[in-house]
Amino acid sequence: MRVPVIAVDGPAGSGKSSVCRGVAARLGLRYLDTGAMYRAMTWAMLEAGVDPDDPQSVAAHAPGVSVTSGTDPAAPTIHVDGIDVAGPIRGEAVTGAVSAVSAVPAVRDLLVRVQREEVMAATATGAGIVVEGRDITTVVLPDADLKVFITADPGVRALRRAAEDAGRGSAAGDVARTHTSILERDAKDTSRAASPLSLAHDAVLVDTTDMTLDEVIDHVCDLADALPG
Ligand code: C5P
Repeated sequence: MRVPVIAVDGPAGSGKSSVCRGVAARLGLRYLDTGAMYRAMTWAMLEAGVDPDDPQSVAAHAPGVSVTSGTDPAAPTIHVDGIDVAGPIRGEAVTGAVSAVSAVPAVRDLLVRVQREEVMAATATGAGIVVEGRDITTVVLPDADLKVFITADPGVRALRRAAEDAGRGSAAGDVARTHTSILERDAKDTSRAASPLSLAHDAVLVDTTDMTLDEVIDHVCDLADALPG
């Protein structure tokens, strides 16, 4: 099989990140977490005192922010203007503001350009890549070799995300609060005008409610192995 470009979308807490990192590690591919990029941009807005709910101010500030991602699935990194923001972008302040910032078309234009550059840089060196987000299968990489939409029952997603947050020592590890937060983010991410989360007509839908992480990784790797050579 030639080096694949694999696009993965899905709602908050669906397990996309763990699945994508696992698939990339198993198949020897690069890994790009576009959610981390929107979170990094949101962190930069909050740091600069820009109101995330003011689209004009967000659009004006965005071009001055440099977001860079390291694409090793074993140790992905995320920096804003050279500052490591991997920790702070998972906090409640960023999580609460990221859907508003990512609904601003100027932010999306900037970050989509960087995302496509990352994919071109990987494929130019002969590497495949797994890219995860909300609009990867529909807008960023509609011609990806494999397109997957990963979802799960909202209650299960809340449990998984709360466990992840608790594992990180984040105060956000409460299940009921996490449930409310992911439902709010889903509603905003699916209803916004610019590149809403939606199921591409040619994406493979994977409902992971009753699957283990390993089973999902196996399934996506099988789909990749079945790609024409
Ligand atoms: O994947 P994660 O939950 O970290 O994404 C954080 C937020 O970033 C999402 O809720 C969504 O608002 C935004 N996002 C986006 N487009 C992407 C990836 C993430 O709008 N491709």
